[in-house]
Amino acid sequence: MEKISLVAKHAQDKSETDNIFGVNSAANAKAEIVGKENIVNASIGAFLDASGKLITLPTVEKTMYSLPFDDVANYAPIAGLPDYINAVIDVTFGENKPDAFVKGIATPGGSGAIHHAIWNYTEEGDTYLTSDWFWGPYKTMAREMMRKIDTFMTFDEEGKFNLQACIEKVEALAKVQKNVLLILNTPAHNPTGYSLTDDEWQALIDAFTELCNKKENNIILFVDIAYMDFAPEGSRKFFKKFSNLPANFLVLVGFSMSKGYTMYGYRTGCLLGISSDEQVITEFYDVNQFSSRGTWSNCTRSGMRLLIDLWKNPELMAKVNAERNEYRESMEDRAHTFINEAKEVGLKMCPYDSGFFITIPTTKAEEVGLKLREDNIFLVSLKKGLRIAICAVPAEKIKGMATKIKKAIDQI
Ligand code: PLP
Repeated sequence: MEKISLVAKHAQDKSETDNIFGVNSAANAKAEIVGKENIVNASIGAFLDASGKLITLPTVEKTMYSLPFDDVANYAPIAGLPDYINAVIDVTFGENKPDAFVKGIATPGGSGAIHHAIWNYTEEGDTYLTSDWFWGPYKTMAREMMRKIDTFMTFDEEGKFNLQACIEKVEALAKVQKNVLLILNTPAHNPTGYSLTDDEWQALIDAFTELCNKKENNIILFVDIAYMDFAPEGSRKFFKKFSNLPANFLVLVGFSMSKGYTMYGYRTGCLLGISSDEQVITEFYDVNQFSSRGTWSNCTRSGMRLLIDLWKNPELMAKVNAERNEYRESMEDRAHTFINEAKEVGLKMCPYDSGFFITIPTTKAEEVGLKLREDNIFLVSLKKGLRIAICAVPAEKIKGMATKIKKAIDQI
């Protein structure tokens, strides 16, 4: 039968199977047969307890339900509630606010922030860059907005961030494109758990500043901090390095309340712009506010109100931080258990610092993933390896995983 399609040319063949959803369904189907307690389902990128229930922060929940409905049901300003933006700036930078002009625009989660960065800082047909281990929607957004994505090798031979590959890619793209947008997800990168060190940040900033000083390009550095709240203390120092950069070097930061405040479905985020030039920041504000009006309009008022209430009440905020720390520590325990066992059995993994995921590089991710299902282990297969959502696996089920993964890889 002839295929009928009604969509516009640019929308043709847009479809994507949700790999994570598929693995999760397979895990649930197997649980029906062998019992949930025998299944290791490391597919979902959310904090889950031993029974698979979503873990939430109690003080966030309590504060949310204390908000007056006639306030939160109302529209919010397109750019976001002003105090929400002030709160985002404070909780993001802490003591490390760069010496620069900073403004923010509320977005539906970190995803909205990434959307605006791509849409407003690259041309149709342009390419933008990220590391070759990356969060899938970066690519979906390229297709959606008629852009292309290119990657550099994330790690070098020694398992360190591949500075040279990153800088070379940026320089090469700068030869063919005026604006070079580079998306870096750090600290606690999804999917590897890697965090750039302060020295690595400095090397990148030095290289991009040199490029900007030639005055032929604009560098747009997008820092995706979706998992920053789960990185150790001191992980925000790099923000200070975004002080006094050249006017054609704009830093954008994608803030999200999804993970750090366990508010995944509340769609509360923010795009922050950092520049030494006031005009660049005024333009940033006008253009991105316009795009919000032209896409999703305003954002969820309750999410914004919640952050304002926490920010205005240091005692409440301290409680939230303490609750989150408890979960962060439990994730660290899970990670250490896995990493120690991986070392013992000689299982190679990508360098992990913190965060929700650990990855195992393999060229046969699909086959190994399927083989592991025989052992009741359900992982997400990526192009370059296997993603283990340690956030979704209780500590007692982490033990033995590395051994089984190593065995499956050796067998294939
Ligand atoms: N960036 C990364 C790397 C992510 O993994 C996610 C969520 O999974 C996001 C950004 C944005 O999440 P949200 O739009 O829910 O804030």
